[in-house]
Amino acid sequence: MIESKPQIERVFIEKSSSLYPLSEKVLNNLGDIPQQEVDDEEEVREYLRLVKDPIGKGKKMLLLKSFKGDFIKPCPCTPHYLGCNYFIINADLNCPMDCSYCILQHYLDNPVLTVHVNTQDLWAELDRFLKTNKDRFLRIGTGELGDSLALDHLTERSRELISYFRDRPRANLELKTKTTHIQNVMSEKPAENIVIAWSLNSEKMAAAEETLAPPVRDRIEAARQVQSRGFRVAFHWDPLILYPGWEQGYSEVIEQLSSKIDPCRIAWISLGSLRFPKPLKSLIRKRFPSTRIIYQEMVNGKDGKFRYFKPLRIKLYQKVVERLITHIGDKVPLYFCMESKEIWKKVLNKEPGSKEEVEYFLSLLPRFDAD
Ligand code: SF4
Repeated sequence: MIESKPQIERVFIEKSSSLYPLSEKVLNNLGDIPQQEVDDEEEVREYLRLVKDPIGKGKKMLLLKSFKGDFIKPCPCTPHYLGCNYFIINADLNCPMDCSYCILQHYLDNPVLTVHVNTQDLWAELDRFLKTNKDRFLRIGTGELGDSLALDHLTERSRELISYFRDRPRANLELKTKTTHIQNVMSEKPAENIVIAWSLNSEKMAAAEETLAPPVRDRIEAARQVQSRGFRVAFHWDPLILYPGWEQGYSEVIEQLSSKIDPCRIAWISLGSLRFPKPLKSLIRKRFPSTRIIYQEMVNGKDGKFRYFKPLRIKLYQKVVERLITHIGDKVPLYFCMESKEIWKKVLNKEPGSKEEVEYFLSLLPRFDAD
C-alpha cells in the first residue's frame, strides 16, 4: 500500500493565528518549507490570481487561519432531491488530490488548502450543537469540503475528533477519505460511533479521473486495516461513471471489497452518479482536456446540475446494487446521495418520505444477528 503525502510548496500563516497550538503543530510537521505571514486570506487569493491554474496551484499551498464563521452546518445537499440530514464540520477546506469531477473546484471561492486552527472554538461550538440536539441521532463529518485524512499527517485532527466523539455516542462521526493516511486513526481506540469511510470508483476511473489519489485496491486495504483495528467502515460509490466496461470495472471492485471487508462492520454504503453544474463543466474542460466524462449525453436536472438520463442512472444503480447484494448480502444499509424518491423506490424498493426518514434508516443498529 503506497502512502503518498501531498507536496506542500509554501505555507501562509495569518498573523493573528500564528500562536494557536495547531499552527505550531502543522508547522513542525511540515518541516522546512517556505513560510509567509499574511494579514488575511485575501492576500493569498491575490497571490493565486497571478498564476495560470489557481486551483492546481492552491493544492500545493497551505493557509493556516482562524475561522470566524459557523464550523457546523447542515449539508447543503441539492434542491429537489432527497437528502440524508447530514451535518458538516468545516475544519479543513480543499484537498491536495485533483479529481476531474470535484465539485470543490466550483464550490469554494478560495482554492488554497486551508486549516482552521482555532480548535477551541470548534469544540465549544460542537458542545453547544450536541447539547441542542441531545435527543436525536446525528451523522456528522469533515469530508464534504475537503478530504478528512489528506492533511491528517500535518494536523492530527482525526485523533482529536475521535477522542471527542468517543464519549458522545448519539453522534456518529464520519471521516471520509480517498487516501491511505490511516496512521493516526490506527493509533486511536475505536468506538462504535466512529466511522471511517472511503470513496470508491473503478480502478480505471480512479487512474484516469482521480489524480494523486491512491489506487482503489490500496483504499480497500486501508479500510481492511482500520476495520481489523475495530472501527466500523463505510463506502461512498460516488460518482459512479458510465464508460465502456463500467459493469466489469465496478464488479471487480465489489469482489475485491467482499474478499477483504467484513460486511457486518460496514456502517453504510452510499451511491451517486456523475453530476455537475454548468460552470463546472467548462472548468473541467479547461483543467482536464483529456477527460471524456463530460461529453456523454446528459439531462439538466431539477437542481440545475447535469446528470445521466434517468433510465441510464437506474440501470447503473441496479447493476451495482445487484452485485453488492450478491457479494456482501442485503444487510448493509444502502442509500443514495442526491437522488429522487422515484430512484429510491425503483432501485432499493424503499420509499423514505423525508431526509429525517433517511437519517433514521441509517441509524438503526445493530442490524446483524449475533450468531
Ligand atoms: S478526493 Fe474528494 S475532495 Fe479531493 S479532489 Fe477528489 S473529489 Fe475533491
